[in-house]
Amino acid sequence: MRQTLVAGNWKMNGSRSKNQQLVNAIKSGLREGTTTEVAVCPPAIYIPQVMALLQDSGIHWGGQNLSQYTEGAYTGEISASMLLDYACRYVIVGHSERRSLYGEDDALVAEKFVVAQRAGLVPILCVGELLEERESGETEAVIGKQLDAVIEAAGVPAIGEAVIAYEPVWAIGTGKTASPEQAQEVHAYIREKLAAQDAAVAEKVRILYGGSVKPDNAAELFAMPDIDGGLIGGASLDAESFLSICHAG
Ligand code: PEP
Repeated sequence: MRQTLVAGNWKMNGSRSKNQQLVNAIKSGLREGTTTEVAVCPPAIYIPQVMALLQDSGIHWGGQNLSQYTEGAYTGEISASMLLDYACRYVIVGHSERRSLYGEDDALVAEKFVVAQRAGLVPILCVGELLEERESGETEAVIGKQLDAVIEAAGVPAIGEAVIAYEPVWAIGTGKTASPEQAQEVHAYIREKLAAQDAAVAEKVRILYGGSVKPDNAAELFAMPDIDGGLIGGASLDAESFLSICHAG
């Protein structure tokens, strides 16, 4: 049985005072006995603050990105060991904004995945197609290629120790959500593709859906057999919305 995971990606949002309010509201609003695992990924500079606020709360935190290098002359970069130094459990790898705005290709994403995992972080590997790719029937080919790059670099068993997030690019921050059936179809494809190589890995890995998840669509999405939770952008910045999504699992 896979435990539902709801992870908030704050992107480049927040301030010390807003973070404090948001994290405290999440902490106090999370229903006792909720079986969903909850995590937040703040901007790197706020990870120490979030760590202090969430210590011993049962809520995890993580980075939004990491360097493929371990240390050295890489101005502005953050290494896996730095994230671990602040007790991050997760790190998002290959978010579509990193891919499209910062030129991260499949090979670099795979490298970051390996570096993160080798250091002891759990990568949340994002995959997803553009609207034109979906419209031209290439969704599975695109996602298959994104996955294959990581499988080639890390091996199939490594996928079982990670989290996958299916995030159709056309649904991120647009208010357009994939229907539960559309999302399920791709999640099932990912699981079947993995099962062809290792049934146990396919059964174990959590596959999150991301793309305009909101309180009013979360329960329907999370009820699909191959959807194991969500990676939440915009709605993770509002405690009430985020909590309602956490409670939809
Ligand atoms: C995301 O950035 O991972 C995301 C899913 O954003 P949103 O929920 O705002 O679409």
